[in-house]
Amino acid sequence: MPPVENDTGKNDLKSRIAELIDSNQVMLFSKSYCPFCVKVKDLFKGLNVEYKVVELDLIEDGTNYQEMLLEMTGQKTVPNVFVNKKHIGGADSTLKAYEDGFLQKLLSGDSQAYDYDLIVIGGGSGGLACSKEAATLGKKVMVLDYVVPTPKGTTWGLGGTCVNVGCIPKKLMHQTALLGTALQDARMYGWELDQQVKHNWETMKSAVNDYISSLNWGYRVALRDKKVQYVNAFAEFIEPHKIKTVSKRGKETFYTADKFVLATGERPRYLGIPGDKEYCITSDDLFSLPYCPGKTLVIGASYVALECGGFLAGLGLEVTIMVRSILLRGFDQEMANRAGEHMEEHGIKFLRKYVPTSIEELEAGSPGRLKVTAKSTEGDDTIEGEYNTVLIAVGRDACTDKIGLHKAGVKVNPKNGKIPVNDEEQTNVPYIYAIGDILEGKWELTPVAIQAGKLLARRLFGGSKVKCDYINVPTTVFTPLEYGACGLSEDRAMEMYGEQNLEVYHSLFWPLEFTVPKRDNNKCFAKIICNKLDSDRVIGFHYLGPNAGEVTQGFSAAMKCGVTKEQLDGTIGIHPTCAEIFTTLEVTKSSGGDIAQAGC
Ligand code: FAD
Ligand code: NAP
Repeated sequence: MPPVENDTGKNDLKSRIAELIDSNQVMLFSKSYCPFCVKVKDLFKGLNVEYKVVELDLIEDGTNYQEMLLEMTGQKTVPNVFVNKKHIGGADSTLKAYEDGFLQKLLSGDSQAYDYDLIVIGGGSGGLACSKEAATLGKKVMVLDYVVPTPKGTTWGLGGTCVNVGCIPKKLMHQTALLGTALQDARMYGWELDQQVKHNWETMKSAVNDYISSLNWGYRVALRDKKVQYVNAFAEFIEPHKIKTVSKRGKETFYTADKFVLATGERPRYLGIPGDKEYCITSDDLFSLPYCPGKTLVIGASYVALECGGFLAGLGLEVTIMVRSILLRGFDQEMANRAGEHMEEHGIKFLRKYVPTSIEELEAGSPGRLKVTAKSTEGDDTIEGEYNTVLIAVGRDACTDKIGLHKAGVKVNPKNGKIPVNDEEQTNVPYIYAIGDILEGKWELTPVAIQAGKLLARRLFGGSKVKCDYINVPTTVFTPLEYGACGLSEDRAMEMYGEQNLEVYHSLFWPLEFTVPKRDNNKCFAKIICNKLDSDRVIGFHYLGPNAGEVTQGFSAAMKCGVTKEQLDGTIGIHPTCAEIFTTLEVTKSSGGDIAQAGC
């Protein structure tokens, strides 16, 4: 029998298998000569339970069945056992389920055969949203959250990356830096700040961390109020439908569930060069660093690197950013470069086209002194530099390698550890779902994880059909001059539609509040990309200026409604604001016209 290659053939086979599973209390996919299959059959005979068996070696398309079972359950071996529509696994899992009494419960049709309706692994943005929503819908839910300490020993409370070592402390420290700029501006507005204004790292760190502690507490209370069982332990699958959890003290406990949601997020990647784990920090350490980092080298050039480098410089520290290739890969490159130029003009040094090769300690301390050696990506040139702190921000790895996914049969992309899912966040194993940063090819943003988690719970337990929309997701990079974007970059739009089919409108602008302090004249920038083939619909929105998140959020709603250039032109601006620029964009890039803004 040739392999089933077309989608119709595959879907037919999938339906046939699903029908067998649904219509038989015990369904065995077996091979007539397999001793493990015999064991399982003997078990059911001994229990006086009728079973339906398909001997894959005796039917013509047995190989196709086996391939499809692999796709449906992550298990290729036989026997492949289902009881009351639940996948039990192979011989070992079935015999173990019998020893535990779990098999008998399932056979008796006990709807409470599993400990929980849903277990969510990971109590971050996605996991908390999903577990709370599922509990609101009346389900018995457990959420597990455990933070593995960083190589420096840093750890934190419930809530995941965003709250503890991501969006929240980052935005508060960015705000600290903006206040520093505002203090400079204030003098020009007449504020007589006679004493020299200094920044105190410890005060900021404590204030930010106190706020985070209050959020950690709030999450615990919310879980308790919603009757979600929260366990502070590391979870891993040990067999289908079953996990083992290990607490901080090493206590092991086992739980089963009908369905699982994986929401384990990501952790910072290290470079794998001498000295990186010993002497460097990552964003996981920075926000609770007990001392001011001093002269800092940031390695990397994406969100985390530019945001952290930006606010550290805003606190008055000497900051260098080592860039391997380009700034903000994946973002509109014109915007990324403008954000970078602004940082450079404000004293941040960029070492472009270099990668570090070793980090040595020159002097221990808080902070100490480190020597960094780096080599050029374009030649043999090597450089050295001395810094107090080296912050590695070269991307993040999905936390999927230590959670026993192979035991549950969940497929992971071996190249990046990410989990592929269908448009309902379902993995290849039908009862296991995944959300948030660990998803392959999706946005790594808090609101995306929250939305996906909430909608998933509503589909699983609330009869909803609404799926998470991953298109036109707005985002903001909180660089000193903030960059907000929604939709396509100009580069990507050109690839997709061709330059001739696009009209790009752009303008520099000078926020009114920058005029009196006489700073950053014509450094802010607005750009929209319109699709000429579709009524000049706005397919890319880009804003570099103050309050980029607030501005971009509003326009992203308009983009979700399919806003066109004509509709933007028909919108009356709010004066005097930065956002109003999008209602008056006139100069097209193709015209080559002057984009400097002269006045209001
Ligand atoms: P996480 O929030 O990472 O939660 C996963 C949780 O699972 C963690 O607590 C982890 O410890 C736990 N866990 C992992 N494995 C196990 C296990 N086996 N057992 C039990 N628990 C486990 N996004 C924005 O939208 N805006 C921003 O401004 C922004 N700024 C950021 C700044 C920084 C420095 C970083 C690093 C990220 C930022 N992000 C931002 C991204 C955002 O934080 C993530 O997209 C979001 O937290 C992802 O949510 P999640 O639920 O997928 O995972
Ligand atoms: P990232 O987007 O994966 O970028 C990694 C950066 O590190 C790139 O600049 C990359 O350079 C560089 N790099 C990788 N390996 C390197 C090496 N060996 N040596 C030197 N440089 C190296 O990672 P991220 O900044 O950590 O962000 C992770 C995710 O968190 C983002 O995708 C984002 O969704 C989320 N996040 C969001 C916000 C926000 O919403 N404001 C803020 C922070 C993070 P190349 O370009 O050369 O590969």
